[in-house]
Amino acid sequence: MQQNDSVECIKGIGEKTAKTLAKLGIFTVDDLLRHYPRDYEVYGLPVPIANLREGSVAAVEAGVATFAEAKRMKGLTVVSCNVRDASGTLRLTWFNQVYLKNMLKRGIHYIFRGRIVRKAGVLVMDQPKIYKREEYRVLLNVLQPVYPLTAGLTNRALQKAVGQVLGMLNTREDDLPARVVRENKLISQRAALGEIHFPKSRETLLDARRRLVFDEFFRFAVRLRAQKENRHVNKNHFLLKETDKCKLFLQGLPYRLTAGQEEALSEIRQDMAGEYVMNRLIQGDVGSGKTVLAEYALLLAATNGYQGCMMAPTEVLARQHYEAVRAAFDPFGVRVCLLVGSMTAAEKKEVYAKIAGHGADVIIGTHALIQEKVVYSKLALVVTDEQHRFGVRQRESLAGKGECVHVLVMSATPIPRTLAIVLYGDLDVSLITELPAERLPVKNCVVGTSYRPTAFRFIAGQVSEGRQAYVICPMVEQSEEIEAENVMEYTERLREELPADVVVAALHGQMKAALKNERMEQFARGEIQVLVSTTVVEVGVNVPNATVMMIEDAERFGLAQLHQLRGRIGRGAHQSYCIFVNGSQDEKARERLEIMNRSNDGFYIASEDLKLRGPGDVFGVRQSGEMQFELADIYRDADLLAAANTAVKSLTQEEYESVCSKICTKNEKGFH
Ligand code: ADP
Ligand code: MG
Repeated sequence: MQQNDSVECIKGIGEKTAKTLAKLGIFTVDDLLRHYPRDYEVYGLPVPIANLREGSVAAVEAGVATFAEAKRMKGLTVVSCNVRDASGTLRLTWFNQVYLKNMLKRGIHYIFRGRIVRKAGVLVMDQPKIYKREEYRVLLNVLQPVYPLTAGLTNRALQKAVGQVLGMLNTREDDLPARVVRENKLISQRAALGEIHFPKSRETLLDARRRLVFDEFFRFAVRLRAQKENRHVNKNHFLLKETDKCKLFLQGLPYRLTAGQEEALSEIRQDMAGEYVMNRLIQGDVGSGKTVLAEYALLLAATNGYQGCMMAPTEVLARQHYEAVRAAFDPFGVRVCLLVGSMTAAEKKEVYAKIAGHGADVIIGTHALIQEKVVYSKLALVVTDEQHRFGVRQRESLAGKGECVHVLVMSATPIPRTLAIVLYGDLDVSLITELPAERLPVKNCVVGTSYRPTAFRFIAGQVSEGRQAYVICPMVEQSEEIEAENVMEYTERLREELPADVVVAALHGQMKAALKNERMEQFARGEIQVLVSTTVVEVGVNVPNATVMMIEDAERFGLAQLHQLRGRIGRGAHQSYCIFVNGSQDEKARERLEIMNRSNDGFYIASEDLKLRGPGDVFGVRQSGEMQFELADIYRDADLLAAANTAVKSLTQEEYESVCSKICTKNEKGFH
């Protein structure tokens, strides 16, 4: 069996199962091995029935006492029977497993393992798995993998398939040179794959994880090295020199650029007129003023006779950029157009024609910009805003729309510079560390729900001074399962609580794109004073007149997300206020929100967040959208990332080429 063979070559996996596996992104034997457990279960010794506790998962060894019976209930067939051991009797129930009726004969002993629930006042074991004693003994006290599943696939089937593949790994060669394995004190790849699926102990599991995380980073670093080696070959075919219009644009700005902005600007200027094509990341916290740099680059391309485009992750943001850029570029005779998914086919067609016929100089949009139908005529620059919301692939497809075009990406992901340099190894990094000077830091408070009347009065006060406010709720509508504030009801309530002349409106992701845009634009024009919204406003939106951000059930959001939300205010000259409403009584939640209260600094918040989550949570994977590692966490495993990066740098050309041939052909899950 070869790594790249289809899963169908595994015994017991036919065409049907293969199709189901494909839904999980598993096509080859190797994909299956890299489908890591999301958790592990310990199979303990059977316990006496009398000792069972509600809510626990337990095993009992017992004999069938009453015949299994089947009943139809609400369209389901329920099979149930009673089992008995020396300490008592227990009822077992299963749904839709009629065949059990014939299997569960009175007097036969099995081990039953399942969750203990209370039904109609008595303890019942729900959907137990059934084992013969010998079968169970094999499972006892080892960690059993629990896999991410999909409909039509059982955990047991996956365990079996993985077990089979692992049994045939003996001849597998390690992907890494022996020297690297030795120097980094790694266990072998074969051992690591075996242990990650069926660990003998917690310790060996950690060793296995360490090895596989190293592998992920190593592959990542190899890819970066490959990109780097190609990169400087890319000569700059678009020598773009600063035009008078660009100078006028900068002179016309209503503020002075910060030192960080100035520096990034001169780097962009040098890049675009330099020997090699630009590949630059602008990293700066929310509100640090990245947009103006993108605008400058776009204007530079346009006034040199080329096209430039900018991709944003949401339509709301794309439209906002469009409006701002159009207003800014109009005086220079630069033609700006918008391309987003919600436009009608006819509208899109018109835009496609403009793009292809160079009837537009600057194109702003969402993912729609990378659709096949979009053909640019003289593309020289692509910009991605909020890069952390896109994948590396998307950035690359946008760049692929032109030939060796300049690339500028902007991100607010709060990561330390050292990490950024490794992670974005294919890019040059400009860092903006300071916020505009005249900005007043946002004032924060964490409050309980009893504070609401005060908060509403405060919002009314701000509105009467001409300011605006956001109120964020986690939900769109009332839900039966989740008790959290919702946009629809909250909007009604605010209309009652606030003075009658205050315009309150709702915004959420389930609204039609056109309506969403209309609302956002009304808010930006000041026609709506209080916007009640879900987190759709989270990325990039800029309404400097808004000075209040009130976040309901704040404990439900991640700190990075809260930081992004707070980034919507404090963008103008007025003092801004962020109110975090803790909807729970939980001390831990309060402690976490206190971090937001203490600091407005994204780096600080990210590092504190990390400390709070602690090292106990082995698989607390943080996905930043862009770096979708399977196991690795760029923060927690930062030392391994550095080690892998050093290892790749240290490879001789010969080693490097051999590694490339082994690694780079594989389906790289991390880069979609
Ligand atoms: P982000 O980095 O989050 O994308 P933006 O580019 O949206 O931030 O800028 C936030 C706000 O700050 C905008 O209203 C912008 O006009 C303003 N701004 C940008 N640079 C400066 C500056 N140097 N001085 C004052 N305000 C600025
Ligand atoms: Mg922005």
